[in-house]
Amino acid sequence: MPRYEYRCRQCDTQFELNRPMAESGAPASCPDGHGDTVKLLSTVAVGRASGSSAGSAASAPQPVGGGGGGCCGGGCCG
Ligand SMILES: [Zn+2]
Repeated sequence: MPRYEYRCRQCDTQFELNRPMAESGAPASCPDGHGDTVKLLSTVAVGRASGSSAGSAASAPQPVGGGGGGCCGGGCCG
């Protein structure tokens, strides 16, 4: 469960909460009960959970070339 940092603008207390990502935007009350808090940018890296199955297929098929200009040298660039 990711950890989010908040700061109370009333008593200037900085605190952390562990909450699911779905509730990351939900208002948080400071330990003193104030509701005027702001969410700080969390510096905690949300690591990859072990056991995540790989195999994400490509979503959008894009005809990306292998790199390198295929145009210049072919004569179309003058
Ligand atoms: Zn407070």
